[in-house]
Amino acid sequence: MEEKLNFENMRVLMVKNQIEARGIKERSIIKSFLKVPRHLFIPEEYQQDAYEDQPVPIGFGQTISQPYIVALMTEILDVKKGLKVLEVGTGSGYQSAILSEMGCNIYSIERIPEIAERAGNILKKLNYNVSIHVGDGTSGLKEFSPYQRIIVAAGAPSIPENLIEQLEENGKIVIPVGDYFFQELNRGTKKKGKIITESFGGCQFVPLKGKQGWKE
Ligand code: SAM
Repeated sequence: MEEKLNFENMRVLMVKNQIEARGIKERSIIKSFLKVPRHLFIPEEYQQDAYEDQPVPIGFGQTISQPYIVALMTEILDVKKGLKVLEVGTGSGYQSAILSEMGCNIYSIERIPEIAERAGNILKKLNYNVSIHVGDGTSGLKEFSPYQRIIVAAGAPSIPENLIEQLEENGKIVIPVGDYFFQELNRGTKKKGKIITESFGGCQFVPLKGKQGWKE
């Protein structure tokens, strides 16, 4: 019980000091961050760091993104209830839970089966209805397309063509684009089949590996 109270306190402080203090005010985002138990998406040995201002390892050389980065990506994705969203790079499943909590319908694809399975289990346990798939997300998930939003949680050399194709007209894609170690957080809006890009500053993500990403 005391453990649970501690995590709740940490979550409130995380939202206040890392998210609101950096300018994210949208009520539905704040509510969602206050509600989703971030520590449960992290292997037990790292749970004490769950609410720190940093990414945390989740095994297999992968990480759960820093809380502020998840909040910023959620903000610039510009979602509302009922939107169909493709997430590339399920990772821990935390970003899926945040977007589900905001009423989005999430299709998420992850290349590492063990990671996808763990994310699926915790999302199910918490009653989030997310459709999880294993595979190379640079090819998208054509069978459920088109998507109104696409969010990519790994650094890409460029925006994969398949993702542009599977995005609805006027849809938005949020994706870090750059070299293997450093990227710019970009938002692309699809207009007449072409992507118009805005930049939201520098970031550092694990590489997007696959056919239209970095070589395995
Ligand atoms: N948003 C996630 C969260 O909330 O935990 C963090 C995702 S983590 C930074 C990036 C994930 O992208 C890793 O789990 C990695 O295995 C996955 N990934 C990398 N390349 C991929 C690809 N081509 N298709 C699907 N997943 C990929």
